[in-house]
Amino acid sequence: MPHYEFYCHACKKTFSKVLTLAEYEEGEVLCPHCGSDNVEQSWSAFYAITSKKSA
Ligand SMILES: [Zn+2]
Repeated sequence: MPHYEFYCHACKKTFSKVLTLAEYEEGEVLCPHCGSDNVEQSWSAFYAITSKKSA
């Protein structure tokens, strides 16, 4: 399942969601913190996580 990172402009929090392709194309992503749809897909959060692999 694809996993997406989002940033909410309304409450300035990031969150992640697992969406099906159909859900993703619908664009119906709501912030779980405040319920706003003023969200933006965030790739920086994804890179922050993957770059922390300091083995
Ligand atoms: Zn929010």
